[in-house]
Amino acid sequence: MKRVYNFSAGPSMLPLEVLERAAAEMCDANGSGQSVMEMSHRSKDYKPIIEKTEALLREVMSVPDNYKVLFLQGGALLQFAAIPINLAGVEFGTQRKKATYIDTGIWAKKAAGEAAKYVDVHVAASSKDKAYTYIPDAPAPAADDAFYHITMNNTIVGTRWPSIPETGNVPLVADISSCILSEKLDVSKFGLLYAGAQKNLGPAGVTLVIVRDDVIGNAPSWTPDVLKYDIQAKEGSMFNTPPCYAIYIVGLVLEWLKNMGGVSAIEARNIEKANLLYDYLDNSTMFRAPVEKNSRSLMNIPFVIGDEEKEKRFVAEAAAEGMVNLAGHRLVGGMRASVYNAMPIEGVKALIGFMEKFAKANA
Ligand SMILES: *Cc1c(COP(=O)(O)O)cnc(C)c1O
Repeated sequence: MKRVYNFSAGPSMLPLEVLERAAAEMCDANGSGQSVMEMSHRSKDYKPIIEKTEALLREVMSVPDNYKVLFLQGGALLQFAAIPINLAGVEFGTQRKKATYIDTGIWAKKAAGEAAKYVDVHVAASSKDKAYTYIPDAPAPAADDAFYHITMNNTIVGTRWPSIPETGNVPLVADISSCILSEKLDVSKFGLLYAGAQKNLGPAGVTLVIVRDDVIGNAPSWTPDVLKYDIQAKEGSMFNTPPCYAIYIVGLVLEWLKNMGGVSAIEARNIEKANLLYDYLDNSTMFRAPVEKNSRSLMNIPFVIGDEEKEKRFVAEAAAEGMVNLAGHRLVGGMRASVYNAMPIEGVKALIGFMEKFAKANA
């Protein structure tokens, strides 16, 4: 068997233990005589799977009891619409509500653009002036804001909020697609957290929403039922068929994470991985990390050479050595190493070893 170090921003690596366990259970899960893919979502075989996944998530993230955990479909992008509709949508012909968005990159901008269909979006701060290489100061929300939105980790540009903005009574909403479970997070500071699974949580196809009880239940009457948080909460994410198999894999990933020592142990490992790479980059004469130091992501680490031909060759030669998907996002260029929870420290060391070799050969 050949396994590469996959530095993709998403979908991305899963722990080998998880894949092996899934393979072992593929044709006969738990003595049921079926794979999880074949089970009715309402069957006695499947029910414990989704219940265990939710319980594990609540445990490892310390989700308070007054929050619902929802397993939905449509990715983070559907949440870009579902959030403004549920939290601030109004009946046709009535005065629109307001929401604050902070523009920290391409996903943040997309979220604000989608929300503007449903609410009056106020972009209170942006780091566009420096190509999104830092996190701007967070202005206070307006008193009449229905919610305040941030993108916690900016996957494409490689920044992350160094601290959580203070928004008082205005519910804070965060896209945590690319940093969920990478470090400790105080859920109680948020009205709503959401994440597509395919970066740090499992396979594509399931989207996690963690939402405080008091911010749900106000969706206007025209809201599609599948998008209504109160309906999904009441039905235990089973208003319609949930992404059963993806939820099962998320459960296995959470079990793996718990066995590794939980979020604090993973956080320590992630800091070690990121420090190794940033230290190398900051001392390199060939490579450079463009993001300001106090805004750097633990998960997505962009770097450049500043010579397009060499960058292309770097990505190709790294792939030939089993380190794949190191090209930067098509909108920003350069390189990017995504080092999510499942990337072992050996992968980061192998990458640095290759960078040293490349730097010597091309000095
Ligand atoms: C990947 C990503 C998205 C897009 O998520 P989908 O699940 O593809 O809709 C949105 N926001 C962030 C921060 C991401 O990293």
